[in-house]
Amino acid sequence: MAKEFSLLILPGDGIGPEIMAEARRVVDWLRTNRDLNFTVHDGLVGGAAYDVYGKPLSHETLELAKQVDAVLLGAVGGPKWDGVDYDKRPEAGLLILRKELELFANLRPAICFDALVDASSLKADLVSGLDIMIVRELTGGVYFGEPRGIEDLGNGQRRGVNTQVYTTSEIHRIAHVAFDMAAKRDGRVTSSEKANVMESGLLWREEVTRVAEDYPEIALDHMLADSCAMQLVRAPKQFDVIVTDNLFGDMLSDVAAMLTGSLGMLPSAALGVKGGSAMYEPVHGSAPDIAGEGIANPIATILSLAMALRYTFDCGVEAQLIEDAVQGVLAGGLRTADIMQPGKAKVSTSVMGDSILRALDSLNK
Ligand code: NAD
Repeated sequence: MAKEFSLLILPGDGIGPEIMAEARRVVDWLRTNRDLNFTVHDGLVGGAAYDVYGKPLSHETLELAKQVDAVLLGAVGGPKWDGVDYDKRPEAGLLILRKELELFANLRPAICFDALVDASSLKADLVSGLDIMIVRELTGGVYFGEPRGIEDLGNGQRRGVNTQVYTTSEIHRIAHVAFDMAAKRDGRVTSSEKANVMESGLLWREEVTRVAEDYPEIALDHMLADSCAMQLVRAPKQFDVIVTDNLFGDMLSDVAAMLTGSLGMLPSAALGVKGGSAMYEPVHGSAPDIAGEGIANPIATILSLAMALRYTFDCGVEAQLIEDAVQGVLAGGLRTADIMQPGKAKVSTSVMGDSILRALDSLNK
């Protein structure tokens, strides 16, 4: 019997609709060739929603996002909406989705495809075969802690305050995500904080250690966040899963991303509580500089769909098929402009999509 899933597709702005069109063709391919029955809903988010509803996410779209198994989002934003009030900006649509769906775990894989090893800023032997998963806490910590603000001290001085704050339950739930993830991978978790200078970091270290007792098969080590940044560029292949807070995760995941070559290749996931909502999206933005030209790289979006298959739909075989198809197309020498290398063939967004579908066909035989 066909498996039944529901998916809300939100292409967004800029290159969003172009890259999402290719991901949608992969959804159709899965329907036809793998007996996966997707009910696909469509919606607007970001500037595209603002232009129609006067806000970056309509109530109806938000309700739909809460009901479906997963949301697949393109990207939001662009200069057209620069003058719009902060709370109605395209980016606010994303923040509302993250908050309302309680997406507290951000998964950012850093995978270096063999064919793109030379595109990394590091030497090939340091990144060849790289496969790291960064699990970043997304809804707590210093970006949300109170008190916060800028106060006037009245003597010509001002004082800016943000508060780093985590509770036991916030640390436990993100640690569980990391350990569960490691159980499906190489069985190793590195927890990163600043326990040497921050009480919140010490609490983080103690509570992650406590959660580790439930996972005797997983190896846990702790690394100070500054040291972790250094190790990421010195010897990145030592890591399997890195779990860290919102602030350090923001930075460490960007460092790890750049080890892999291009923004156009990087998927991500934001997960809520088990069995709850999940949102999958490329790491890159709406790339207004190339929007409408048909040259954007659709791979990050297609790999985001693969993550949805693995982590929400429990279809690891199909996720692997998609990843292998991407690997095969790159190995065959096709490149979109952002990952172009000498001697390779430059192709458009839709030709990259065509080629991935053809690779899926031949892998599925
Ligand atoms: P960006 O990621 O959109 O673009 C950075 C550079 O990378 C650009 O030169 C762009 O052409 C290129 N690029 C990005 N994705 C690509 C792809 N798939 N294929 C080929 N080239 C690609 O970042 P930016 O320019 O800083 O931001 C543009 C807009 O996107 C802004 O409005 C920003 O707020 C928004 N943004 C949205 C998200 C999101 O939706 N999650 C994330 C980041 C930025």
